[in-house]
Amino acid sequence: MNSNLNQHFERAKELRALLNKANYSYYVLDSPEIDDAVYDQLYRELIEIENIHPSLITDDSPSQRLGGIPSKGFKNIEHNIPLLSLDNAFNVNELEAWYRRISKLISSENKNIKKVDNPELICELKIDGNAISLRYENGILTRAATRGDGKTGEDITTNIRTISTIPLQLLLKNPPSWIEIRGEAFMPNNIFNKLNIERKTTDQPLFANPRNSCAGTLRQLDPKIVASRKLDFFAYSLYFPENWEPTDSNFKKPISQSESLEFLKNIGFKVNTKYETKKNLNEANNYYKYWEVEKDFLAYATDGIVVKIDKFEIQNLLGATNKAPRWAIAVKYPAEEKATKLRKIIFQVGRSGAVTPVAEFESIELAGTSVNRATLHNAKRLASLDLHYEDTIIVRKAGEIIPEVIRVIKELRKVDAKLVQLPKNCPECNSKLILEPNEAITKCINYKCPAKLKGLLRHWVSKGSMNIDGLGEKIINQLVNQGYVKSIADLYKLEIDSLLELDRFGEKSANNLLIEINESKNKSWQKQLYGLGIPHIGEANAKSLSNNFHSIEELNAIAKESPENISNIYGFGTEMKDAIVKWFDDSNNQSLIKELKAIGFSLKKSLDSNYNSNQSNTFDGKSFVLTGTLDSLTRDEAKELIESAGGKVSSSISKKTDFLVSGEKAGSKLKKAQELGVKIINENELKLLLLNGHN
Ligand code: NAD
Repeated sequence: MNSNLNQHFERAKELRALLNKANYSYYVLDSPEIDDAVYDQLYRELIEIENIHPSLITDDSPSQRLGGIPSKGFKNIEHNIPLLSLDNAFNVNELEAWYRRISKLISSENKNIKKVDNPELICELKIDGNAISLRYENGILTRAATRGDGKTGEDITTNIRTISTIPLQLLLKNPPSWIEIRGEAFMPNNIFNKLNIERKTTDQPLFANPRNSCAGTLRQLDPKIVASRKLDFFAYSLYFPENWEPTDSNFKKPISQSESLEFLKNIGFKVNTKYETKKNLNEANNYYKYWEVEKDFLAYATDGIVVKIDKFEIQNLLGATNKAPRWAIAVKYPAEEKATKLRKIIFQVGRSGAVTPVAEFESIELAGTSVNRATLHNAKRLASLDLHYEDTIIVRKAGEIIPEVIRVIKELRKVDAKLVQLPKNCPECNSKLILEPNEAITKCINYKCPAKLKGLLRHWVSKGSMNIDGLGEKIINQLVNQGYVKSIADLYKLEIDSLLELDRFGEKSANNLLIEINESKNKSWQKQLYGLGIPHIGEANAKSLSNNFHSIEELNAIAKESPENISNIYGFGTEMKDAIVKWFDDSNNQSLIKELKAIGFSLKKSLDSNYNSNQSNTFDGKSFVLTGTLDSLTRDEAKELIESAGGKVSSSISKKTDFLVSGEKAGSKLKKAQELGVKIINENELKLLLLNGHN
């Protein structure tokens, strides 16, 4: 972080304004403007600045107060014991740092406590709901309140009484004069989904997540509506007068968090049973990792785990700050959305000449991997983002794979920032760019544009086509720039001397590459067809086309004489038909076909495929999941084989999965398959099924 005080002053001001606004939308309107992970990230940035320059801390800083603002619709209630939040860690390293910190604190604070080196921990799921405090007097529920700002909450007793898992009377023979229970009210996922569907059909704004819809429900003035929404509650802590002792021999006064949870269960509360006591940090880390996968199978939302020191004696010793107890920490799961700073925009020219703006930004960790660039697709998308240079952008991993810029935080934009716009000329060959009639694609139409050739070559050598591993983008660029390659066919005419002239090529690597290039001539008809880069023909469409037309000559003739046979293929339409007809119409593409045939490409279906095509329906309707490393097949190859036999490959396992194909170092999917009773097979068994069918 830049240590310039002025810059920090300005940034802290921006962050305070943004976070205070977000807090209002979140806590008062129950309608967040930004994702929680983005909020957490910006909040941390503010804390970092305030830590470096304490003089920049202002009274209105969100760091100086806890959570929400009690709303006006309900009577306010002063909490007898403050209702605090939790400090956050965002990965296991931060959890370790917390543990080191408190271990040090314990030993420096008190020499009398035993086993201070390794205090026992309890791990619980962090339920993504709303903290509620319940007060029982002589065993009867008298008051229920939201957390509010930690000191004052809202009186929601009438609404809380509608939650059937909250006892109105405790199962205790000699209840103390008062007892206070803390826990999380939450909305189960199925209720949340149903509620949002209803809201959609009646044109009401949707709730962003179960936590906000729970908060919105608890603040309903009509308890009948609350009752209809079927909220639930997990209790996780309790307070009672110090001198109280249970007279009932079935009850023992709890002296730890784990005993409290047992106690809560016994007096009539629903407790989340996934908690576990842990002897050390390593065990806590394993709990965190385990639930990172398993949380998706729960019926309620969790956004992390909470690690607590188990024994009250040590908890009391550690105490709390004005915002959170020191003896507990929430460890949140990696975010799928994050804020980052736009560094620059590059305009890539693809194989069709389409110009794609690509955002390069400061590197961020997203869903476990580091990303620093994302495509902005086209001019329309760029305009809809209203992107300016140096903007703070929100990046998400779509489908957990492809990073996508979804929004800009305009509040953090510099006053004089310049709008990002598409260039007028091709950044590669400088010819004038053309905007297609639907305005979605801006194109370079210069046939000789080197960027288009590079794009086509990248596509040709990609995994789905020739899969030439040794031919990366840098080598392709050099080959084109130095004039060794002017078409796909030229790759197959390359001589070792040309390769040796390129950066980082030795005799061995050059020879290996030439062998790899040559061997690619044996790839299937489907892969050859896909590699031609016909617009709209991705891998799946190339598969359908190659199954319907068995050679390039047949496809060429159909495109010329009866193109309706193309649009009649299941999943194809006029747009694809037109793209194919246009492609075959282009004399440059006809020359490409001739050249490829001349250097030995068959461009037709081969008859000796390993798993004969009569079996193509062997796996109809069957679903597969792949895990671990297979012996001879890559994941893509196994997927292709399964799909070509009519099966479906999905990435996550469920009761509906028919087969798990498991290889070496299989992960959590194997365990899940065992639990669900899904049939587990290895690579050989898969091949046998392909040959003999699965019955
Ligand atoms: P928090 O969500 O990080 O966690 C603290 C809460 O966890 C506790 O108050 C308690 O209610 C709950 N909890 C769940 N399970 C628990 C368990 N087993 N034991 C103990 N506590 C448990 O903190 P917070 O103060 O409630 O809320 C702050 C968070 O809210 C921020 O970190 C952010 O993610 C979100 N927020 C988002 C926006 C936004 O605009 N998106 C705005 C404000 C706050």
